[in-house]
Amino acid sequence: MTLAEIKEAFAADGLPSFRALQVYKWLHRGVKSFEEMSDQSKAFRQTLAQRYYIAVAEVAQRLVSKLDGTVKYLLRLPDGEHVECVLMEYHHGYSICISSQVGCKMNCSFCATGKSGFSRDLTPSEMLAQVQAVQEDRQVRISNIVLMGMGEPLDNYENVLRFLELVSSDDGMNIGMRHISLSTCGIVDRIYDLADRRLQLTLSVSLHAPNDAIRSRTMPVNRRWNVEELLKACRYYADTTGRRISFEYAMISSVNDSADCAKELARRLHGMLCHVNLIPVNEVQGNGYRKSSQEQIQKFIKILSEKGITATVRRTLGSDINASCGQLKRRYQEEVAGIENLHEN
Ligand code: SAH
Repeated sequence: MTLAEIKEAFAADGLPSFRALQVYKWLHRGVKSFEEMSDQSKAFRQTLAQRYYIAVAEVAQRLVSKLDGTVKYLLRLPDGEHVECVLMEYHHGYSICISSQVGCKMNCSFCATGKSGFSRDLTPSEMLAQVQAVQEDRQVRISNIVLMGMGEPLDNYENVLRFLELVSSDDGMNIGMRHISLSTCGIVDRIYDLADRRLQLTLSVSLHAPNDAIRSRTMPVNRRWNVEELLKACRYYADTTGRRISFEYAMISSVNDSADCAKELARRLHGMLCHVNLIPVNEVQGNGYRKSSQEQIQKFIKILSEKGITATVRRTLGSDINASCGQLKRRYQEEVAGIENLHEN
């Protein structure tokens, strides 16, 4: 709930509305129960506990990378569902990658999350709870957020916008929009909506192919909105917000990494305020894809830069701990299924 909504709810419930701000601040400091709001009277805390609840995410599994200290979490939500998130340390501070849905409907062929189907949207408080659970677990303050975990944020648009409003609020965690990125597979209608809100958010777009033939094969969403429609929306976003779009491009050997692909990509992005982020594809179990070679990736970058498009290779963090999303949950589910089979036998 926003502060205004808490005030309204308190008024409707006959509770003192001047307490709303104090309660709001406690909630955003990451308390797990009303009991912890120590400057509130016992009677008031009990009333709150009877009428409201706080969404808490519990750490179900934690994997710490020996290579770079990246921490991968499997978190348990109040209804027993699980989502993943990742804490990364950069020179400018801590960054968290959070999930926006339990599972995903988009079914991109290279992605581990899509393979386990879709369960439900996350509520705004469950997105906040991920940040809070990790801050508490590591005793750190997170300064950057990327909505790049499980799920498609623009398929859970209202809740994601509310989360953004809450997490950036002065009396909340106060993480500014300039420190938040949102990654989408290309829900075009929502890109226009988002642009019109003129938030100072960074938009990342999972492009992964320069044309419809390749993109429709790997990303079913392309059959709804094709590359041309997507790039038109991206140009609108960049023009309206003045923010540079970041295109994600997973380099998949012999699928989308040829010199022709690079040339076509450069042609299509020509003149747009953007940056291309190349990601050697993660060889997720069952997707059958292979990473492009370093040589192929460098060739690709060279062609793009000759045509005026800046591109970099994304740094790989946590490669020893299944740090890319969907992989940990899948393994966890397989292990649990394995244990259950064992019991049956
Ligand atoms: N649904 C959103 C955000 C979640 S996925 C989106 O599609 O952007 C986060 C990023 O990881 C996306 O760019 C996605 O395409 C990419 N991704 C998924 N599986 C991958 C894999 N096996 N290798 C490399 N990148 C992958």
